[in-house]
Amino acid sequence: MNRREWLKTAGVAGIAGMSVAPHASLPDLLQKGAPTAPPTRARLEMDIVRLNLKHTWTTTMSSSEFRDTLHLRYVRDGVTGYGEGAPIVRYKEDAAGGREALNGIREMLETADPWHFEKLMAEVNRKVPGQHAAKAAIDIALMDWICKKLGVPLYRYFGLDPSDAAVTTFSIGMDKPEVVRQKIKEAEAFPILKIKVGLQSDEEMIASVRSATKKPLRVDANEGWTNKEEAVRKINWLETQGVQFIEQPMPAAMFDEIKWVRSKVHMPIIADEACTEAAAIPHLREAYDGINVKLDKSGGIMEAYRWIQIAKALGMKTMLGCMISSSCTVTAAAHLSPLVDYADLDGNLLIANDPFVGVRVEKGKLILPTGPGVGLKLQS
Ligand code: MG
Repeated sequence: MNRREWLKTAGVAGIAGMSVAPHASLPDLLQKGAPTAPPTRARLEMDIVRLNLKHTWTTTMSSSEFRDTLHLRYVRDGVTGYGEGAPIVRYKEDAAGGREALNGIREMLETADPWHFEKLMAEVNRKVPGQHAAKAAIDIALMDWICKKLGVPLYRYFGLDPSDAAVTTFSIGMDKPEVVRQKIKEAEAFPILKIKVGLQSDEEMIASVRSATKKPLRVDANEGWTNKEEAVRKINWLETQGVQFIEQPMPAAMFDEIKWVRSKVHMPIIADEACTEAAAIPHLREAYDGINVKLDKSGGIMEAYRWIQIAKALGMKTMLGCMISSSCTVTAAAHLSPLVDYADLDGNLLIANDPFVGVRVEKGKLILPTGPGVGLKLQS
């Protein structure tokens, strides 16, 4: 008897004379919630929703009054899964392109068995190059649908304790000193602030913040500094300003320079723009202390979970971030936040017309909704 035959026989018969309880695998458990009849066809509904910003949002990359995100409803067997994708301009994505890409595989999305979501998402990835935000929209909607059918909140699906949900920073965009001070006043409830830097006016920006608060800061340069000596000088200065870590001080392509900068500074350096795929994470460890995981970069919840686990296995710091989006994406990400060291999940708080109510924030701590799925309610 060869090894394969032995395994097959042992699996079927168990040990002679002993009653062996069948071992329930996760797929088996999930199947319990699955309908026994063949699933019906889904209906995929998509809208591009314009989210209006409370304040003009300025980073090193752009300045804007609104963001358009792709909203998706996966309707099947009387249950609606909600999804959203906030396209990232840096990766040349937009909401219309994302919608077009999903329309191109509509037949597959509407007819595939959602309980085989791993296979379904693998097929989406095979058929659609790029379009990570659109993939996030379909992945979030599918996971919302699956967990609603199972009757469990998303955090429970992953075995996470909602009381471990992270404390989120609140982001202060670049602005004139008096507006910065006003924004800090509005962020009173948040114990840690995230500050955008990366321009010539960095010292002025931090000085405005420090004139209004002594709170710990986290800083994001969004690839803004292109000179490694300048980056070291600025980071060494930030180390005297109560800053906990810096995100993406230099362009992602300047890998060796960032590695050099890291050898000259003390604070952790987190990869954001440089971290775009799971396979890149082991290499990133040479230049960065951690990664910023966003559903709109990874292409959804399942892949974000994989990124977090890879980074943790490599001993790297993990952070969950977001784009400017509604409570749909932000709440979906918040369900994974018990896993990470840092959270920057405030994109929904920066907009004035959120279509959903989901995760709440109390003194910075993320309070996860306990309803099934992502736990979203439509704004009344
Ligand atoms: Mg960033």
